[in-house]
Amino acid sequence: MRPQCLFPLFAPITTLPGIGPRLAPLFQRLVGGRVVDLLWHRPSGIVDRRFSPKIVDAPAGRIATLLVRIEAHLPPDTPRRPYRVRCSDETGFLHLIYFHAKEDWLRRQLPTGEQRIVSGLVERFNETPQITHPDHVVAPADRETIQAIEPVYPLTAGLFAKQVGKAVQAALAQVPDLTEWQDGAWLRRQNWPGWKTALFAIHHPTAADVLDDSPARRRLAYDELLANQLALILVRAQMRRLKGRSLQSPGLLRAQALSALPFALTAAQRRALDEVDADMRAPYRMLRLLQGDVGSGKTMVGFLAMLTVVEAGCQAALMAPTEILAQQHFATLRPLAEGLGLRIALLTGRGKGKAREALLAATAAGNMDILIGTHALFQQDVTFRDLAFVVIDEQHRFGVQQRMDLTGKGQAVDVLAMTATPIPRTLLLTAYGDMDWSRLDERPPGRQPIETRALPLARMDEIVAGLRRALADGARVYWVCPLIEETPDTDLAAAEARHSHLAEIFGEMVGLIHGRMKAADKDRAMAAFADGTISILVATTVVEVGMDVPEATIMVIEHAERFGLAQLHQLRGRVGRGERASTCLLLYDSPLSETARQRLDVMRNTDDGFVIAEEDLRLRGGGEILGTRQSGTPEFKIADLARDADLLDVCRDDARLALERDKDLSSARGTALRTLLYLFERDAAARTLRA
Ligand code: ADP
Ligand code: MG
Repeated sequence: MRPQCLFPLFAPITTLPGIGPRLAPLFQRLVGGRVVDLLWHRPSGIVDRRFSPKIVDAPAGRIATLLVRIEAHLPPDTPRRPYRVRCSDETGFLHLIYFHAKEDWLRRQLPTGEQRIVSGLVERFNETPQITHPDHVVAPADRETIQAIEPVYPLTAGLFAKQVGKAVQAALAQVPDLTEWQDGAWLRRQNWPGWKTALFAIHHPTAADVLDDSPARRRLAYDELLANQLALILVRAQMRRLKGRSLQSPGLLRAQALSALPFALTAAQRRALDEVDADMRAPYRMLRLLQGDVGSGKTMVGFLAMLTVVEAGCQAALMAPTEILAQQHFATLRPLAEGLGLRIALLTGRGKGKAREALLAATAAGNMDILIGTHALFQQDVTFRDLAFVVIDEQHRFGVQQRMDLTGKGQAVDVLAMTATPIPRTLLLTAYGDMDWSRLDERPPGRQPIETRALPLARMDEIVAGLRRALADGARVYWVCPLIEETPDTDLAAAEARHSHLAEIFGEMVGLIHGRMKAADKDRAMAAFADGTISILVATTVVEVGMDVPEATIMVIEHAERFGLAQLHQLRGRVGRGERASTCLLLYDSPLSETARQRLDVMRNTDDGFVIAEEDLRLRGGGEILGTRQSGTPEFKIADLARDADLLDVCRDDARLALERDKDLSSARGTALRTLLYLFERDAAARTLRA
């Protein structure tokens, strides 16, 4: 249960003074519906109101705070003109300008003959200084209510800066004193403030340059990372408590398979298999992430691991994200499996009727050793006699909660998730800290390097001429068109336009594949490309995930500047899979922004997925790397994985040590750490603790 001291923070935002039913939906859209959401809403800048000159010294274009006397109200002669209020000090005159003014309100705010402090952007009109719609107008006695340095918050349509500022202040007033959860010595060494002080500080910045690198923000970032690390360790410990089964076999099937393969495993593959074997032998459930570039041999590792399970008399499944991929896996693994005398089958959403029934019956009876498929594998009517191992392909996008669900369900299934999206270390530690992971950081021998070039789209004629030569030479070409706008329609339109453009030039040999096509049509297009009936396949990003046509040697990526690095890397990995040298052309729309240029440079300079991933993180930030903000990524409110990466290792040790000393978090610091977990909404993890 969430500790009572946090209740005010998790109360609805409408519990704050001044936020009623009209404003609530706007705040909901801007930050969220709870008080705590306002606390995490950090200023994006400041307005410095300290400049407090006499009128004569107030230059146009600068924010100034002035003490003036109200001389006269000058209502407009026509409603289209602004209302003016004439003010003065001993050095000159200043006009306050109001459009669509309410006269009685203005007269109350600015009574003639009295003094007021006004603050706003000074302009000059016909030599007279003026301020249009001053940000603040207060009586001299209330000077303190104008913040000398005012935070500027990101806004949403319908909300004014003042409303957001006030709401944040109201939220701050709800902040309780909480027992310190950070280690005292560490805190002193860092010279960091306490939690509450830090929170006040980020909402009361003292200068623009402290917004990001203030000790206050760093402290809160550490808090958040600490909550994250604690949660991951707790979730992992919880999983380890779920009994798994200890699977072992003499390894006869694997030995047989290895001798049938025309190649030897790479050292990285052997290492990964050893790690998987150890997990399988151990009495807890396996949850391991196998990372490796496209073509690094992950599927082979998954298959060889399955053999252990099958030899022990259990069943194994391989789940792919799409039908095409499932079919491809089936096509490659079937001869291998059948050569070993195993029963292997494909189960997708498309299977129907008698054949499907027979397959399900066989699986339920244990007359099927390996099942390959899509999500259809886990439909209600699919039952296994004894499923012990699931390999999940290209599934880096599932979140901690889903992982808990997966391992918490049914039998004690071991899980190996495979991904070709290289995940930088910082992200691994924060998003996958509850999993074990293996890396295939070595390519099978004999692969040709891919030459990568960047060219402006304007040189299309040259590009087409180059293609003509390559095609005459028997090349096969992927041509990828990006998402132009958020809507799939325009996305498709771009690909269709390029398809007809290329078809005009190259005729019948040009095909098209996109996400909106029926599955059967997609298969047909892929098959035509695979068997060489067509030589150019124009595609939306559907080719991104795992398609395998070794004869393809050219990858053209149009508007490469619009793709993320990880995505470009994935796409490029579609070529360079066969014996022939391959090329990747990154076509861009000039002029390129500085970041875009840097990104394309990274692509040209390296094909190491892990280097690319680190660069991607540096250039873009964590959430986008995984391609989605909803799942898989820890969404940090304060911490920034690029900026705060240096805190991560300390944080992990801190969390580990705290839980080693006090595994139920029941000591004084432990109790404070529980509160921290709830504060950052790691409730599921906190609930694994004994009450
Ligand atoms: P991934 O799943 O990582 O994309 P795969 O397992 O599909 O990679 O392997 C890609 C290709 O390389 C396949 O044709 C596979 O048979 C082959 N392969 C796998 N391991 C090796 C190896 N050690 N040496 C040579 N080729 C290999
Ligand atoms: Mg693969």
